[in-house]
Amino acid sequence: EVGMNAQDLGKILHREPAEIVKKLFMLGIMTNQNQSLDKDTIELLAAEYNIEAQEKVHEDISDIDKVYEKLAKQAKEAKHQVKRPPVVTIMGHVDHGKTTLLDRLRHTNVSEHEAGGITQKIGAYQVRVDDRLITFLDTPGHAAFSNMRARGAEITDIVVLVVAADDGVMPQTIEAIDHAKSAKVPIIVAINKMDVPGANPQHVTEQLMKYNLIPEDYGGDTIYVNISAKTGENVDELLQMILLQADVLELKANPKQKAIGTVVEARLSRGRGPVADILVEEGTLHVGDPIVVGNTFGRVRVMTNDHGKQVKKATPSMPIEITGLNDVPESADKLVVFDDEKTARSVGEARASQALQKARENVQHVTLDNLFDTM
Ligand code: GDP
Ligand code: MG
Repeated sequence: EVGMNAQDLGKILHREPAEIVKKLFMLGIMTNQNQSLDKDTIELLAAEYNIEAQEKVHEDISDIDKVYEKLAKQAKEAKHQVKRPPVVTIMGHVDHGKTTLLDRLRHTNVSEHEAGGITQKIGAYQVRVDDRLITFLDTPGHAAFSNMRARGAEITDIVVLVVAADDGVMPQTIEAIDHAKSAKVPIIVAINKMDVPGANPQHVTEQLMKYNLIPEDYGGDTIYVNISAKTGENVDELLQMILLQADVLELKANPKQKAIGTVVEARLSRGRGPVADILVEEGTLHVGDPIVVGNTFGRVRVMTNDHGKQVKKATPSMPIEITGLNDVPESADKLVVFDDEKTARSVGEARASQALQKARENVQHVTLDNLFDTM
């Protein structure tokens, strides 16, 4: 006899005493709310609730994606949605000027008085146009875009397709169009290298129309801008067109909830430990928030914006760098904020051990079945 009854246990376990009595009945033990229970019975009951608790954590684990979806849905249904900056990926054939354009935009963004005049490299950055912002993902090219998509990360709102005016549509141009179309992401065409003597934007436009990118002049709704990433000609116009396209898309988010986001890049810093570049998608991420990111977990310790400045919070479409994770996550991993650090830890740890288990199985698989084949 321990002198504890269903009522006492109810208080400890945060359950109704009647529920405890019912549970015990199901376990084959008849009692009432006031009857003292022996040690074995209490242990049995504790074990039962423990399993339940663990199953709940387990649910959360296999379903960090579900938690993410739930928060995403909550955001979509929120009353107080606000306009958010568009997230833009630049694509196009090699040497058509993607990197040059990204560099130009990045420097447009840096004001003279900023430290060193160099923007921090954190996988994405924002450009201010009048009183609005545009977020650019800093990895041009298709591999990054399709890797992200393959892993369920659809963070790009608009693709800027760079086509050199002196070279026209090339294989990777077509590939980029295919990627954007299958992701249902609208394309803005930036015909680049307009400063080059042989520039022929009309020819490029005609080529692109075969891929159903019809400019407004021809009755379509694809935005075309002729630019020079090198001289900066019309780059402001391109930014204005991105904002116009964003307005058409009516991009909104709910900053007043727990945050979700996606890892753009991550690495191990010698001094600061695991560092992850995150794009916040919904909600507001705060310093101190308990988080699970892929198979890692922790608390947001230090948050830094794309200007290298420490910030306390990050709102939708904002790229930030965070420290405080126990390990390095992968690109395209999802970030989810949990209520408390304990849950974040147990979910993170369970996910990590699951991943380890899976990796082991794969290794064994290779060793036993495929090793001789591959030799
Ligand atoms: P990416 O492979 O698409 O990233 O292309 P890059 O940005 O590396 O550009 C390839 C080459 O084209 C570089 O030598 C650039 O300096 C040059 N380039 C890019 N944009 C322009 C432009 O608007 N005008 C001219 N004349 N050259 C450009
Ligand atoms: Mg490049």
